[in-house]
Amino acid sequence: MKVPLLDLKSQYKTIKDDVLKVVEEIFESQYFILGPHVEALEKEIAGYCRTRHAVGVSSGTDALLISLMAAHIGHQAGVITTPYTFFATAGSIVRAGARPVFVDIDPNTYNISPECIDTVIADMSEEERGRLKAIMPVHLYGQCVDMQNILKIAEKYNLIVIEDAAQAIGAEHNGMRAGAMGDFGCFSFFPSKNLGAFGDGGIVTTNSEALNDKLRILRVHGGRPKYYHKMIGGNFRLDALQAAIVSIKLSHLDNWTKARQENARNYRELFADANIGDLVRLPLEKENRHIYNQFVISLKEKRDELRLFLNSAGIGTEIYYPAPLHLQECFSYLNYKKGDFPAAEYAASHTLAIPIYPGLSDDQQGYVVEKIKEFVRL
Ligand SMILES: *Cc1c(COP(=O)(O)O)cnc(C)c1O
Repeated sequence: MKVPLLDLKSQYKTIKDDVLKVVEEIFESQYFILGPHVEALEKEIAGYCRTRHAVGVSSGTDALLISLMAAHIGHQAGVITTPYTFFATAGSIVRAGARPVFVDIDPNTYNISPECIDTVIADMSEEERGRLKAIMPVHLYGQCVDMQNILKIAEKYNLIVIEDAAQAIGAEHNGMRAGAMGDFGCFSFFPSKNLGAFGDGGIVTTNSEALNDKLRILRVHGGRPKYYHKMIGGNFRLDALQAAIVSIKLSHLDNWTKARQENARNYRELFADANIGDLVRLPLEKENRHIYNQFVISLKEKRDELRLFLNSAGIGTEIYYPAPLHLQECFSYLNYKKGDFPAAEYAASHTLAIPIYPGLSDDQQGYVVEKIKEFVRL
């Protein structure tokens, strides 16, 4: 049996007619950059995320970068974030001219730990604390960070909050949606995200009128009116084709999310029946509305061997992420070392994402769990 990690081709079949219609309309109009389709999507996403504004941008990475620029976070400012995330999170902080301050994760949810943030801030020198300007929490795998405590810390130290919600569109914490709790919410339409475009794209949500305005100016090189620049932005524009396709997919998103959540429930039952809980740990569902961008299991041992075994059985898996960011060569100047963030380092060497996409069948899920059981009982 074949079980891919993600199957976008079968998803495409269900929306093909709508997509081809709008693509043809845009081709006929020859209006490709920003414009009415982008404006329409911005309204829809703001509604979906329950924020006042949304600004379409060129990628999730650019969503992070433009938010940092709009908040003037540069000049060696400190930005607290997690070492266990996709590279773009910390990469954007450095590109903006700021400095990542890594903080360890909660080993149960893989999200940044507010308790560890408190400890890191308490250990800072007066000068370091003075440079601290922002927190960039990442809602990893589709589950929100404990934002209530993040916002308390932000208020106490007067920090800007930039949510990296690239994996978490529609996820909730205390009834609030991802992207609606911080000063900015940054989303990605990379094809493998729950709401993916047919190329690159992203969006920034905010409740601030002033920040919304600034984002819109920065998106077009900082020019307003055109050719007159009070600030330096970049080409962070979203194109009409991507916006129109994302808009079609958005109308299916809640159904797809429901299917992911059902798959997660099904895995929990199948793993419970397999009785291998001493060797395979399942992800903790802590927040109410986890959207399961990934379903990530943790192996007591032999994670890489299991991955090869599943691969040869036709089952797709991925390691998100094999190397924590504090140990990346490009960040060696930050002087972190192995052992600084034990929970992140443990996760990087023990976890494995297994298929969870909406079209997955019961038989496929049963096969995945059966093969995992076969391997760990070898
Ligand atoms: C995908 C992702 C990004 C980057 O999004 P792109 O659209 O690929 O630039 C940033 N942060 C996280 C956590 C992501 O998963």
